[in-house]
Amino acid sequence: MKTQKTITRREFLGGVAALGAWGLTGHAGLAWGQARAKKGSGPAGKPPTRSEFVVRNAYVMTMDAQGDLADADVHVKNGEIVAIGRGIAAPRAEAIDGRGMIVLPGLIETHWHMWNALLRSMSGDKREHGYFPTALALGKAYLPDDMYQGTRLACAEAIHSGITFVHDWCHNIRSPEFAQANLRALRESGIRGRFSYGAAQGHPATETIDIADLEGLHRDWRSHSNEGLLALGLAWRGVSTGATGSVSAAAYQKDFDAARALGIPISVHANNRKGSDAIALLAREKFLGKDVQVIHATWVSPGEIRALADNGCAVSLSPYTELRIGCGFPPTGDFLAAGIPVGLSVDTTALSGNADMFAIMKAIQNIENSRTNNEFKLPARRVLELATIEGARSMGIDDRVGSLKPGKRADLIMVNTREVNLGVFSEPAHMLVEAAQPANVDTVMVDGRILKRRGRLTAVDTGQVVSEASAAITAVRKRAGWW
Ligand SMILES: [Zn+2]
Repeated sequence: MKTQKTITRREFLGGVAALGAWGLTGHAGLAWGQARAKKGSGPAGKPPTRSEFVVRNAYVMTMDAQGDLADADVHVKNGEIVAIGRGIAAPRAEAIDGRGMIVLPGLIETHWHMWNALLRSMSGDKREHGYFPTALALGKAYLPDDMYQGTRLACAEAIHSGITFVHDWCHNIRSPEFAQANLRALRESGIRGRFSYGAAQGHPATETIDIADLEGLHRDWRSHSNEGLLALGLAWRGVSTGATGSVSAAAYQKDFDAARALGIPISVHANNRKGSDAIALLAREKFLGKDVQVIHATWVSPGEIRALADNGCAVSLSPYTELRIGCGFPPTGDFLAAGIPVGLSVDTTALSGNADMFAIMKAIQNIENSRTNNEFKLPARRVLELATIEGARSMGIDDRVGSLKPGKRADLIMVNTREVNLGVFSEPAHMLVEAAQPANVDTVMVDGRILKRRGRLTAVDTGQVVSEASAAITAVRKRAGWW
């Protein structure tokens, strides 16, 4: 018997990089990917054009007053939903067969550090290799193109998973080029989203972010927004302790005031550790408001929940990262009972592994029911609302998306119920929350553009995206000396 050689971590990673290089030339390629530059991350092709579509004979979940409609049609024109119902006349529209499909609003994601998608499953098993030291060490070694690669990979996974809106919480802006790189990836993907401008990993706790850069982006936002698909926000460090120490009051105040002066929304992590009372502090210092989203809040007092509700704040919950890193259990039902808009989030695939919003929905339901010893506490349809219309409300975009209704933008997905893990057709909300997976997402439409069709991304060569991302993280690790 041959002696088996143990493969070192370095050799394995080298092998992965080599596979990546093979992938670059060996992949058959899809329409847009082939047109791209062969080396590096050159300019992408144009996203698909908006056509006139009619989805025929589907099970349509409007997540709106119209409720569910069996054997119904959805008519889309110029990126807008123009009609929903049975037997819609649309002679010039391209027909999409919806038989066996559930059509529902695209899933809304509310907080995701997309740049670090390159760090997938890299949070280690020892303290020095935990999420925060890993993100800090590797984040510092990033170049602008690595931001592009991470964000592009995350966008591709989002679309694959049926997510049509992302909140890109960008906390590694080391120079203006870093923000530009993220924005380029978001624009090229065709996804809808908010880009929240944040401090770099390791940014001095006594210094503000580059406020002039944020103001410049805001001034020129028309050129970044992809015809209004993207909005700008602040990824605020807040008053809590960061990886590099507590942010000084002068710095966090200036960052906050800059965002308020621009009129852009603000998002902050808070109360994810036992004993934290950051939300109470935010309330006392008048940092809460309708424009503020609070992330995690797993350790929250009744008084703090009242403060969030009274000030009109929204909350973002990311059950997989909260569970994985030991942040505790999200008290979803308590927020909902207080009337606080709740959205669901990926946070970081360095901890969650993937961006499966179906699994996130399932986890939110199971945690809440288990936490309260109540099988009926959080019904599947309520959970589905959190991933659609309620999530949209939490991001202030429910006037445009989050439900299917004439006049709203055409962000929708089709889930194939004929897959083996979804047969047989029973209660659709339960099927989506408990049984569905990203692979069941047949079609994804954002603003009337089809970005996934018959289970494949239309505007992205996924082989190229993964191979270039692999090459990028290999180089980042090398620069960081992180093996
Ligand atoms: Zn986060």
